[in-house]
Amino acid sequence: MREKGKRGGEDSRGGDELAVDRFALVEVIPSGRDFVFLDAERCTGCGNCVAICPMDLWRMRGGRAELAEGYREVCVECGSCFIACEAGAVDFTYPPGGTGVAYRYA
Ligand code: SF4
Ligand code: SF4
Repeated sequence: MREKGKRGGEDSRGGDELAVDRFALVEVIPSGRDFVFLDAERCTGCGNCVAICPMDLWRMRGGRAELAEGYREVCVECGSCFIACEAGAVDFTYPPGGTGVAYRYA
């Protein structure tokens, strides 16, 4: 069994000396504008967006997808929902400059 905290161990993020809390370097400045758009008329209810969103921001309701209301504060801007939607019901653009996910320089 590997030691905890070592490279490849249970809690490893790359070895003790190199461990960096990546989330401490990131801040989210919520956009005042929407940047993920759903065209509900095109939604076929396949559920791909629900399955793929790493932040669990999509739900199915009445056979169609729904995006969480507060998504702008949580979305990591991966664009997976846009890529996974074969029906073309999801559109994605990055949030306006100065908002969204930003790296802090330590
Ligand atoms: S861009 Fe990524 S995190 Fe944001 S809603 Fe789409 S799948 Fe979820
Ligand atoms: S991936 Fe597209 S078609 Fe499938 S449920 Fe989501 S929005 Fe609807």
